[in-house]
Amino acid sequence: MIHESILIPVDLAHPEAASVMFDRARALLRPGGRLTVLHAVPDLAPHVTMEMPDDFLPEALRKADDTLRALVADAGLDADIRILTGQAPRAILDTADQVHADLIMIASHRPGLSDYLLGSTAARVVRHATCSVLVIR
Ligand code: ADP
Repeated sequence: MIHESILIPVDLAHPEAASVMFDRARALLRPGGRLTVLHAVPDLAPHVTMEMPDDFLPEALRKADDTLRALVADAGLDADIRILTGQAPRAILDTADQVHADLIMIASHRPGLSDYLLGSTAARVVRHATCSVLVIR
């Protein structure tokens, strides 16, 4: 089945899974279809941010944007890049609705865990998504 709008969430702490997902997306996206690649930067607790310089968050967002952009460019893909703050499952599910994703592609878990496990983000996305979810192992 060819998809019209694919969303790929990437955990930049473990970007190894991204290239596998990008290769799959190339095969599953209709030519001219919409590809969205997303990273969620976790919110820090107020007692932590109090100790941080004022430009900490904008700087973290900028770095995440640069890193994700480079990953997508290395894969030779044309994608809409989104960096959001907050919890990854919420960011992924909200973005999927916004871009009318008909497929979310997500890695089952961070590298190094047993393959029968589903990571916490992947599990919540599988449970709550209103579109198809392809779990990449
Ligand atoms: P684990 O609990 O083992 O870390 P996760 O379920 O969090 O596993 O991660 C599996 C996949 O979920 C990641 O490869 C990525 O596709 C997605 N994901 C996890 N965290 C984020 C994040 N902060 N931003 C975007 N996607 C994420």
